[in-house]
Amino acid sequence: MNTETTTSGSRGLLQAEPLLFDAGSPARTGVDLPKPKGESRLGGLERKAPLNLPGLSEPETLRHYVRLSQKNYAIDLGLFPLGSCTMKHNPRLNERMARLEGFADLHPLQPTSTTQGALEVIRQVGHWLLTLTGMHTAALTPKAGAHGEFCGMLAIRAALAARGELDQRKRVLTPTSAHGTNPATAAAAGFHVEEVAGTSRGRVDLSDFRSKLGADVAGVMITNPNTCGLFEPDIKAIADLIHEAGGYFYCDGANFNAILGKTRPGDLGVDAMHINLHKTFSTPHGGGGPGAGPVVFSEALAPFAPAPFLAIDRDGALALQEETEAGTVGRLCAFHGQMGMFVRALAYMLSHGSDGLRQVAEDAVLNANYLLARLREHYHAPFGDGPCMHEALLDDSTLKARGIETIDVAKMLLDEGYHPMTTYFPLVVHGAMLIEPTETESRAEVDRFADTLIAIAERAKGNDTAAFKAAPQLTPVRRLDETRAARNPRLRWREAQRPE
Ligand SMILES: *Cc1c(COP(=O)(O)O)cnc(C)c1O
Repeated sequence: MNTETTTSGSRGLLQAEPLLFDAGSPARTGVDLPKPKGESRLGGLERKAPLNLPGLSEPETLRHYVRLSQKNYAIDLGLFPLGSCTMKHNPRLNERMARLEGFADLHPLQPTSTTQGALEVIRQVGHWLLTLTGMHTAALTPKAGAHGEFCGMLAIRAALAARGELDQRKRVLTPTSAHGTNPATAAAAGFHVEEVAGTSRGRVDLSDFRSKLGADVAGVMITNPNTCGLFEPDIKAIADLIHEAGGYFYCDGANFNAILGKTRPGDLGVDAMHINLHKTFSTPHGGGGPGAGPVVFSEALAPFAPAPFLAIDRDGALALQEETEAGTVGRLCAFHGQMGMFVRALAYMLSHGSDGLRQVAEDAVLNANYLLARLREHYHAPFGDGPCMHEALLDDSTLKARGIETIDVAKMLLDEGYHPMTTYFPLVVHGAMLIEPTETESRAEVDRFADTLIAIAERAKGNDTAAFKAAPQLTPVRRLDETRAARNPRLRWREAQRPE
């Protein structure tokens, strides 16, 4: 493999790019602004010292950001196999709808008499979520999955407080396979987290769960389908048991994509569940756009849902209400949530229709199982030979003999032009590789990805360990000290660094 460096630092048509501060200079400017006329109206508060912002011309600025974008990976570039993240295509129709002036130019402080259309979008998104989940009330304001979890756990707190049992019920049970946000949320909401064991088949151990119930349990947080990509077959028994014990059932619904139109969480006994619009409902993800994590509630928790509530006023118009009789947990954000994401999600729901949404789940599960079937002979599948839901879970145990680990496979994938799968998660599987192709990949794309992973597994059988340890060779940066980057991030540019 060619690892030669170049004089310019560029690699082929990928240009090396310095920081904006290093590339530009305060002495240059891309725009000519006229000198302000007359007296300043700032009352002597205007800045005297130079602003010291780097000046660049328009083409320099444009190139800077285009070059940076080329160093990134995106769903618009290729399959994005991150398990548990549901990185699916963002339909351009959604983008067109969100850019309609009537939505894009709204201000959250406009009188509601002028925003009836936007409120109707919020109402309809809530209606679809309730229909799909079989739940009682929807709160749309939470701005991410984790924010939704916090919202749900605050509602559980409020419900326990209303029963006068908050001081006595302090424990929240989470399985070992839980998403990291679940125990973090429970702790942030003031509960003690207690782990429930998993079985050798990757599911919640029902007898261990039963043994941990008691009058001091506030609730349970379970992801279903779980983070091993498996449906929890005892989910109804878990719901019944937690309710008998006087606790609530929080379901992490980030993986709703797998059961959309097939199973309604309300029928399973769920009390609160967040839904990631940026996963299941195709709104942009990660750096591409803000998240949105609406929460749906059972009848028992509905009175404690966060404000605002949509109501119909005396003139039959939609209005926002801040209070409920039972005592809402209050507001989770200043305004009404991520309006642009609601428009995109509704466009997605309406363009698919109920039958189309069901097919989303069917195709997502089909794609994951197809991939699992192709890869199972080449990598080890820790939970036996059964089918999976929306994501395939493998590990590195068959590669270990050559000293090759999950991280080496992930780095090899970078050189092959793919963002790696989720690695070392779920924590219950040593050297986990969690792969979620989603339904928006064609069979040809899934095959191309499978062929690449199979070729990597074949290569790992040869005497090529050093090449694995040296990967990636073709990326703008090679193996980074990720721990140091996380612990000791350099977030500030200092003047002294500016080249003469
Ligand atoms: C993505 C995800 C979350 C968190 O969602 P964010 O929007 O990233 O906060 C929680 N649980 C599971 C299972 C997830 O996959």
